[in-house]
Amino acid sequence: MADVYSKTKRLEIMSKIKGKHTSPEIRLALLLKELGLVTQHRKDLLGRRPDAVLSRGKIVLFVNGCFWHGHKNCSRASLPSTNGIFWQTKIEKI
Ligand SMILES: [Zn+2]
Repeated sequence: MADVYSKTKRLEIMSKIKGKHTSPEIRLALLLKELGLVTQHRKDLLGRRPDAVLSRGKIVLFVNGCFWHGHKNCSRASLPSTNGIFWQTKIEKI
């Protein structure tokens, strides 16, 4: 199925999607703080940037939703109607 938006409109829509400080990330940060766990902001780690790094151990946390986990039969994990092969390949790499 073709995209219902023009390429320009799709780019505009996609650019508004937040990449950090999302609601689940904020909830995780508040929970960790409530538990008394100290987190660090680390930009020097190789690979994907974790959402939280616990400073007392070598523990990193990632907040990924259904889409990035590619849940089978999950409405939140449906692939976009355009560039389906690109997204499928990307999700399988994670
Ligand atoms: Zn799911």
